[in-house]
Amino acid sequence: GSTIGMVGGGQLGRMFAIAAMQMGYDVVVFCGSADEPAAQVATRTVVGDLLDHDVVSQFARQCQVITLEFENIPAETIRWCGEFAPTYPSHHVLATAQDRLVEKTTFRDAGLAVTPFAAVDSAAAVGEFAQQHGWPVIVKTARSGYDGKGQHRLAGLEDAAEVPWDSADAWIAEQCIDFDREASVVVARSSVGQVRCFPPFENDHRNHILDVSVCPSNLSATQREMATTIATRAAEVLQLVGVLCVEFFVVDADTILINEVAPRPHNSGHLTIEGCHTSQFEQHVRAVCGLPLGSPELRVGGAAMANLLGDLWGDQGEHPDWDHAVAVPTVSLHLYGKSDAKVGRKMGHLTATGDSVQAAKAAVMQARESLSE
Ligand code: ATP
Ligand code: MG
Ligand code: MG
Repeated sequence: GSTIGMVGGGQLGRMFAIAAMQMGYDVVVFCGSADEPAAQVATRTVVGDLLDHDVVSQFARQCQVITLEFENIPAETIRWCGEFAPTYPSHHVLATAQDRLVEKTTFRDAGLAVTPFAAVDSAAAVGEFAQQHGWPVIVKTARSGYDGKGQHRLAGLEDAAEVPWDSADAWIAEQCIDFDREASVVVARSSVGQVRCFPPFENDHRNHILDVSVCPSNLSATQREMATTIATRAAEVLQLVGVLCVEFFVVDADTILINEVAPRPHNSGHLTIEGCHTSQFEQHVRAVCGLPLGSPELRVGGAAMANLLGDLWGDQGEHPDWDHAVAVPTVSLHLYGKSDAKVGRKMGHLTATGDSVQAAKAAVMQARESLSE
């Protein structure tokens, strides 16, 4: 069969590889260590330095098409891959999505509403930003943040001293949005230009980390339409091929703002594996291989996903007893094959489906709560 290259070894690469191999593709994973989640399931693995051109070419020459699972892969690596095979998303998309300032500027210039923001480099600059946009202000590293890492919520100017200004190349200040809810749309755009959106997911975060996602969301028909239209526009503005997740702050009946995007499958889309006709991972395979896209619609009344963080594991790394969780009807367990559980680390997730979103959410919450009893 034909071979897809996957740059990055995390859980998104793992679930992509499982979907691709089910469809008859070989998957070569390129990552830093043979025990990473995706390397454990791939057809083959190339282990090495992502910035070593020789290793990159050794990987890339095995592939008919190349994709990635994490936006913080060096854009240079992806540019080199492109010398050997079509590479989706492109290094241009990656360079945009790697930098919050570039990303927000790109969407704002395209007429899409984003959280008010500015580049800042000092307490004085944050003070100026707050004069215009009010307190609190959220200060983030412009690059390489994920799961809320590198974020500071400043209630007033006196808090600005807590930001380690010298530790990052660039910082961004964002207005703290008093949102009604958070939502996301995963949009797929194929190499032949077909576009399909999954129905919006509604997301709850804890400590800036995704906790629970459900579908269908509680958004109004108008808000769903807006979110889907914006996600489609975002994919077109980027000329993206693959899948893109657009994260939204839903502010009121007719205001929704882009928080950020990720040019890959997304944690909030994990419920599509059991919940939708086509999973986000299969859709990613179809998009980068130029196949017709599948139906993204729910195939049940409702679906819900709850993350399993390292917090649930014991001090010695003992995992919870899964029996009680999987005993709950319609609940599915996904573990990513990570051995070192740490607080806040994504180790796996649970999904439940049901006749309604309420039933699915109740089942997944019951399953997760059973793990800490
Ligand atoms: P990931 O890529 O894993 O989603 P990240 O580090 O890029 O994480 P963000 O999406 O920027 O993080 O922020 C994580 C969460 O923190 C958001 O989903 C939201 O709950 C909260 N948050 C971030 N920025 C803001 C903001 N400007 N106003 C209000 N809440 C915010
Ligand atoms: Mg992010
Ligand atoms: Mg985010």
